[in-house]
Parts: sequence; structure tokens; C-alpha cells
Amino acid sequence: MIPKETIENIKDAAKIEDVVGDYVHLRKRGVNMIGLCPFHNEKTPSFTVSPAKGIFKCFGCGEAGSSIDFIMKHEHFTYPQALKHLAGKYGIEIEEEEQTPEQIQAENEREGLFTVTAFAAKHFVHNLQETPEGKSIGLAYFNERGMQEHIVNKFELGYCPERWDDLLKAATDAGHNLDYLIKSGLIIKGDNGKTFDRFRGRVIFPIHNISGRVIGFGGRILDSTKSKAKYLNSPESIIYHKSDSLYGIYFAKSAIIKQDNCYLVEGYTDVTSLHQSGIENVVASSGTSLTEGQIKLIRRFSQNITILYDGDAAGIKASFRGIDMIVEEGMNVRVVLFPDGEDPDSYARSHTTEELQEYVDKSSQDFITFKSGLLSKEAGDDPVKKSDVVRNIITTISLVPDQLKRLFFIRECSTLLNVGEQMLVNEVNKIRRAKFFKDHKQDEIPIPEPKAPTQVEKIEESDIYQEKEVIRILLNFGHFNFKIEDSELIIKEKEDDKDKTEEEEEDLYNVAEFIVDELSIDKLVFEDNILQQIFDEYAQAIETETKPSEKFFINHPDDAIRKTSINLMSEAYELSKNWLDVHKISITLENAPTVIARAAVSSVYSLKIKKVEKMKRDIMEKIKSQTLTDDDIDLYLRQAKGLDEVRNRMNRELGRIVLK
Ligand SMILES: [Zn+2]
Repeated sequence: MIPKETIENIKDAAKIEDVVGDYVHLRKRGVNMIGLCPFHNEKTPSFTVSPAKGIFKCFGCGEAGSSIDFIMKHEHFTYPQALKHLAGKYGIEIEEEEQTPEQIQAENEREGLFTVTAFAAKHFVHNLQETPEGKSIGLAYFNERGMQEHIVNKFELGYCPERWDDLLKAATDAGHNLDYLIKSGLIIKGDNGKTFDRFRGRVIFPIHNISGRVIGFGGRILDSTKSKAKYLNSPESIIYHKSDSLYGIYFAKSAIIKQDNCYLVEGYTDVTSLHQSGIENVVASSGTSLTEGQIKLIRRFSQNITILYDGDAAGIKASFRGIDMIVEEGMNVRVVLFPDGEDPDSYARSHTTEELQEYVDKSSQDFITFKSGLLSKEAGDDPVKKSDVVRNIITTISLVPDQLKRLFFIRECSTLLNVGEQMLVNEVNKIRRAKFFKDHKQDEIPIPEPKAPTQVEKIEESDIYQEKEVIRILLNFGHFNFKIEDSELIIKEKEDDKDKTEEEEEDLYNVAEFIVDELSIDKLVFEDNILQQIFDEYAQAIETETKPSEKFFINHPDDAIRKTSINLMSEAYELSKNWLDVHKISITLENAPTVIARAAVSSVYSLKIKKVEKMKRDIMEKIKSQTLTDDDIDLYLRQAKGLDEVRNRMNRELGRIVLK
């Protein structure tokens, strides 16, 4: 148990922007801060942090809470674990009892694995620093490579002696669970049932996750005469997912944010050497070729990646795939090629910090210059090979999601390779179109055979039902106020409450204002002219801060408006039957206000979805036209894709509200 005062101290110290800032690149926007949500995949920020209120909230996926909630959610911690983590971060002491072997056994598997990797990391450090063998072999190796003490300590480098059971014995003697040791990959269980250490006779590089916990290890063999792999890594486990991990991310994240750039290298020692040279915004994709998960991890801190390659040409072509993946994520990628026979590690060791930094700055190229330089050299004057070079580069350009950037790259490519710009534009569009149709094969919208539209079809395609629903709620319930708290609707007083404080007022939504705001933002136009007029009048009244009274539309001078309004208002307390049936909600006196607020939100989203679907249908219809230019088609395809995204987002939003 953690004492109450300690919990209070932790809560006071753990400022939300500070805690979240360790994981998410936050930018100021007004009184709040925004960034890319770490809990769902997004390219434009909808993750908001309010320092004043001490909370975070994502408008994309709905996650919300305090700094402790954030840590629990992000690290999969329990409440006490999150408190301990934050206490550690802010140097707040928690009086903790030593764990007994029974307690260690009882912990859940995930924590169990973390416990044994933490123990092993410490044990390996102890071996390196305190034992004669560790000093004379392991530490000597690091020293020979010019690695300074503070780097060895910072990265918690260690040593595992050339024995079968060094870690096995130490860990089991300390009461650690053998099953967890095996699941973490630290101990191997052979076919004959015998157990032994995985990393025998190796120096150890612990791999930390984003919050600094050890999730796995890399071990480098020291005796080069043996026919064993130079590097050995921990296998996948429930705490170590190679494709989502980057070596050094914990030590690099704040520098990545500060520099707004991340250097990507290959090996553990590339990372440690660059750190020693003062370049700290560096990570390695060691053990795997670059994955989407790793790129997304970087994207949380910066949009810019600079890949540092060693001079050997064999690896470079394989790395083209990495460039494509980064470009496809909408991020900026630059490349630095080291001179033949050098890698970042060796270069950093044989040059001063200033020389290294200058080399990196001066040799950094964007991907087009990099690729065309490399490929053109190979192609020489062969025209067939030359056109392959062009194709290779525009294929990468076609992956850039942003149109403006794409055009910029095309222009650069045109100049560099001396090919007409328009031709490149056409080629890029061709590739994009082919890719779009390939990606959308499954969910291609079936376009019905053309035939005379019947009455029934007309009704199905029309938005009139959703339009009526919105106006009906506007007229009947426009005066209600409600509140959205932690994605739950809370209903306030029916009429405007004169006594509420300013702060309360700020958080309150009014049904009418909500509807008018939502529809005005999207410049939504009603199909039905009368409904449009009612909406316009209502919106205008709100703008002049005179909400129309109940009698206003019932007594409206315009016959059509009056008639429609009366019809819609006569169903005052009988919410749309259809809506109730669909969502299986029954109204009682107690829940009536909640249902109304939900109905308001839901009706707005339903109408928007309907409109978006209609726009998509129109666009798909246009794409079928024969007279379009490549540019037009490209534009329409992008619009269609954008509309799909909007519709899916709103569907999710709708599901969240209705299902509550
Ligand atoms: Zn989110």
C-alpha cells in the first residue's frame, strides 16, 4: 500500500503536459496542447491535453483521463504500478517492502516478464562492473572500442560469462519464476528438458521500451573465431515486439522532439557511439528491417527521419523499401551515406563531434537526390536502364500522400533527370490510380445498372428523413443544455440556468447551438427547401442571441414553414420511432433528457454520414466518365478516399455515443 500523502504528492508533481510529453510531441494550441494520439492511428492530431484541467482527451478514439490514467493505459500498468512509475520519474520516495518469492510468483505474466528482464539487466551490469571476468573481458572490449564509462552506464551495458547457468542460477536463487525466465528468452529450455543461459559469453545491450523498462536484450559475441552469430537477440515475447521497438528510443525521445528529427541507424554501437559524440536523437531498428510500427513510434515525436547508411552498397538497395515506407506515412525522409567502409559507429569514433555533425549536415540528401544519384550511376547511358531509374523514383513519389509535396518532388525529379514535368505527373497519377483500385477492390461500391429510378429508390437515396429528424430535434428540444464528460453525455437543466458559473457555462452545450454549429461548420445544405429555411431562421436567431420561442415557428407567417413546424412539433415527446427501434432505447421520465441529448448528437451525425455517402456516390459517378484527365481522376480518387475516412470516423463517433 502506498500512503495517501505520497499519492497526493505524486498527483501534484505529475503535470499532465509533462507526463504525456514524454510520449507525445505536443504543440500549443490556445490554452490547450495537441498532438498525435498514442492510442489510435492518426495522421492529424486530435489528441488534446488541458494543462489547466490536468486531463487529456482524444477526439478521435475517445480515450480520456488524468496523468495517472495515461500511464496506466499507455504502459498497461495497474494503478499502483502507474503511481510507482511516476514516483520514480519525479524522485518521490515510496516506502516499499521487499518482495517475497511468493509475491513474485503471484504477479501476472506481463509484470513477471518485466521483473525478470529487470533482474537480468542488473545482473549483467553487475557481471561487467564487479566480477574479474566481466572486467577483463567485457569491460575491456568496450574500452578497446573507445566507449566511455558514462555511455556504458547510461545504456546499462552488461556481460554474461561463458557459463551455462550463470543467470539461471542467480535468478532462481533470488526466487524468480523459471517459467518467466524461459518466456522472456533469457533462459532456453532444450529438447531434453535441460535449461541454460541464452547469452553465454556475450556483452549485453539491454533494449528499453519508451518508458525505460527493459523488454529484451542484444548480445554480441566476443570471440570472433567461433562460428556463431555475431549478434543474438531476445526472441519475441509478450513484452518485446520487435516490429514495434527501436533500440535507444527511451534515451532519444526528448532529443528527437527538441531537434524535430530522428536519426535512424542499424546497430546498437551506432547508437551508443553517436550518443558519445553528443548526437542523442538516434535510434536503431536492430534485428529487423524497418517496420511500419517502428516508423509510427518515431512519428509520435517528429515528422522527420534521417537514415544514416554505411558505405557498402549491398545494404543500400534493400533499404529503399524503408524509404518508401516512411514516405508513405507522410513523413519526411533524408539520407546520409557514409564513405566506403565506414559506418556511423566507426566514423563517430575516428572523428570529432564537430566533424561528425558537419558531415551529417552536409551529406544529408532528400530521397530523390539520393535515389537518382545512386541509380543513375549504375544505369550509365543505357536508355532502358535510365527509364527504370525514372520509374523507380516516381513510384516512391506516388506514395507521398500530400499533393503539394508530390508536385514539388516531381519538379525536382524532372530537373534532376531531365524528364518533362507533365509526363511525370501523368505517370505518377497512373500509378496512384492503379494502387487505389487495387487497395479498394474488396470494398468497391457496387454501382447499380442504370435504369429508370423508381419511387422507392428515390426515397432510399434521399436525405429527407435525416433532415427532418435534425429539424424536429432543433424545434422540440433546442432549449436543452447538455454536457459531454469523458465521452458520456450528461444533461443539465432544461432551461438556461442563470446561476451557473462562467466555468460551467464554458463546458455546456446547448442542443440548438450544437446542431447549428455542427451543420454550419460543414456548410451543410438541406435537400428540402422548407427545412433549410427553418434551419436558417433558427441559426440567425442564435447568432443574435435570441433563441426563438416555442410559438415562433407555430405562428410563422409563411404557410409552408408553419405547417412543417407544426407537424414536426406535434411529435414533441415521441422521439423518432425508427431511431428508437434501431437503437433499442426506451424512454422513461428519468432518462428523457439523456435520450434527447443523444438524439441530438446522433441525428447530426446521421445526417452528415448520409451527406458524405451522397458526395461519394457523386464522385464515383464522375470517375466513370470517359472524358476526365489524369489530374481530374487523381483529384476525385483522393476526394473519395477522404470521404470514406470522414464517414468511418463519424460512424465510429456515432457508435460510441449510441452504445453508451
Ligand atoms: Zn485517440
